[in-house]
Amino acid sequence: MKKIIYLISAILILSCSDSEEELPLNNPTEFTFEYNIHESLPSDWISEFYVIMKNLDDLIPIKATNYFYELPIYAWNSNVDKPYRSKIGDASGASISGNGGAVNDKYMVLEIPNDEFIYNYMHRYSVIDHEYFHVYQMSLSKNFFDGNIELKWMSEGGAASFESLYIQQYYSYNYFKVDQNRVDISVINNPEIFEKFSTSNMVDSNYSSSVFMFLALVKELQKKGSTESEAFQLVLKDFWLRDPTNSNWKTIFLEVFDISVDQFYSTLKGYTNSIETVLPSESLKLESIFN
Ligand SMILES: [Zn+2]
Repeated sequence: MKKIIYLISAILILSCSDSEEELPLNNPTEFTFEYNIHESLPSDWISEFYVIMKNLDDLIPIKATNYFYELPIYAWNSNVDKPYRSKIGDASGASISGNGGAVNDKYMVLEIPNDEFIYNYMHRYSVIDHEYFHVYQMSLSKNFFDGNIELKWMSEGGAASFESLYIQQYYSYNYFKVDQNRVDISVINNPEIFEKFSTSNMVDSNYSSSVFMFLALVKELQKKGSTESEAFQLVLKDFWLRDPTNSNWKTIFLEVFDISVDQFYSTLKGYTNSIETVLPSESLKLESIFN
């Protein structure tokens, strides 16, 4: 009797497996973006948005993980009143939002200020690169996804440097020099305040100060023998792959960069707080960083 039951179960399992497509996958293999791109946006911006997403997918495709495998994107022009309120409430500005910690409950917000279209600000495009880079960071580091590491000058300095490298390469526009040049003197005198948002918001206009520190670290890594591309790979990718937290990031920093955080902060005293002194080369290609 038992044998017959086993046999029947086996047949049932076999027959089920033929129509399995609708069962949820336990280990999704592909990361999916869901696009909610509002008609209030200019059509040329919408076309460029998809071009940028394609370029980024070629450059740094997002790998699905068991905690992060899909992301809705909500984009609209600030001149309309929050058209996705029923989905994301009063979320505004540009961010990756959602309740930290829960599996796969995040979404990307891209509310583009209407002035950016009127005055052709490069930020209307660079913000796409910036937020995409945060998605990439989250896919590399579950602790970053979960909000277990703040380290603003590395996380925001990294995303803001990435967006500038993209704009430099694709639009021949030096976003570092023009839009990230308000570097505060605190980067020299008091760099540790840039580890937290709360202690540095007043002195980090468009993340200029965080970008300065990030680029200074790249310069220091080059002095230690890395090529420029290798140095950027260490700070944009390898560090996050080690999945740092607020409590162990200084150890990981030392292991990945072979320089302690204190040493690095001391070397900043040899710089002046000018973005011009740490600019990457204009010929640098993102493909050489993420090869
Ligand atoms: Zn950011």
